[in-house]
Amino acid sequence: MIIKKKIENCNFCKSFANEHIYSPIKSNIDSKLKICKVCGLSWLNFKKKKDETSSLEKFTRLSCDASYSPVRVGKLQMLQNFTEIHNFKIKKYSSILDMSAARGDFVRWSIKNLNFEKITALEPDKYMTKKFPVSRKLKLIHSQYQYLKFRDKFDLIYSCHSLEHYSDPEKKLLWVYENLKYGKYFYLEVPDPDIISHTKNIDEYFYDMHKFYFFNNLLNLKLIEIGFKILMQKKINGSICIFAKKNKPNSGYYLAKCKNKKNFFIKK
Ligand SMILES: [Zn+2]
Repeated sequence: MIIKKKIENCNFCKSFANEHIYSPIKSNIDSKLKICKVCGLSWLNFKKKKDETSSLEKFTRLSCDASYSPVRVGKLQMLQNFTEIHNFKIKKYSSILDMSAARGDFVRWSIKNLNFEKITALEPDKYMTKKFPVSRKLKLIHSQYQYLKFRDKFDLIYSCHSLEHYSDPEKKLLWVYENLKYGKYFYLEVPDPDIISHTKNIDEYFYDMHKFYFFNNLLNLKLIEIGFKILMQKKINGSICIFAKKNKPNSGYYLAKCKNKKNFFIKK
């Protein structure tokens, strides 16, 4: 059973100064949208309703205002976004990591369209990978990143619509930084919350499975702070899409947060 922990302070700037700005209508788990008063990071806090204790897991999979089915845009459609900002002048990748491979759409596409030696795909849900592509270059791992330590670093890390699901997004970004070769590439895509200002269906947007919302340029600023350089950024089809590279071998921010802190990346 999934029980969400209440987030008390901001994941990005650690401030405890935040306010409740919205309650998505018909959220099945009483979600409350909070915003950090210092940096502007937003997140959903929620508690289960008293009368739904027996089926919380089912309810956490539902969109706030669409209780008939889980609203999930397929990762196949999102491939188009990657092709719009990926630099196809990059001739070859030695190793690629797909951080949340789902049904293998990016892996399947990469086999046809990118030149690489090996690709590692992470997908914790085994049922998603039943029809996964088969390739001698592919290693499929049924796990989340927190549990893994790779011997070799990657040339390209692909993270499509997964950062917003994690309870500690900064930690995931630091993990990406650590596991990327110096000078190599990171593709990050998350839902663009700024689209709510152009729609009347604000409640269709908020989704009980999403924990974080990255308004404005918050994500760029965090990536730069960690030690990435933004090569290209675009808002496409309701997503924020960023193509970045690891710009420093060991940034001061990364060293301060991670080095000499044993087991920083082991999930508690
Ligand atoms: Zn903050």
